[in-house]
Amino acid sequence: MRIGHGYDVHRLAEGLPFTLGGVVIPYTKGFVAHSDGDVLIHAIIDALFGAAGLPDIGAHFPDSDARYKGVSSLALLTECVHKIRAAGYEIGNIDATVIAQAPKIGPHITAMRNQLAHALGIPVSDINVKATTEEHLGFTGTGEGVSAHAVCLLK
Ligand code: MG
Repeated sequence: MRIGHGYDVHRLAEGLPFTLGGVVIPYTKGFVAHSDGDVLIHAIIDALFGAAGLPDIGAHFPDSDARYKGVSSLALLTECVHKIRAAGYEIGNIDATVIAQAPKIGPHITAMRNQLAHALGIPVSDINVKATTEEHLGFTGTGEGVSAHAVCLLK
């Protein structure tokens, strides 16, 4: 078994889409990013690459590459899983936490887990997503950005 950890942050701005865990959530703000800015998927990708001992998300999908402009992070996740399997690993389980003051994430967690399980090719019971606010502290607490942590096991 090999453990991996991933962390990501994206800034929020008015009038952009808010896509998290592959689910578009209605909100007045969305992510400033080269891709769709899905911090949850980016954290999961870095956990998987980390556990496999591979370079990070920025090395595999550089934001200087026009191919990744506006790309769905679900597509990046699928490509990441191909690379993990090609390296000889299978996913054990993944656990992730989203830190966001707003919007409310809880009502969308089931949809996120379904989307992620499909892209990862694993049962829904092997991908967990949790959410917390940061009690109005720091950049997540003021609504300037959203962050996510993920850990995974590869076997
Ligand atoms: Mg990112």
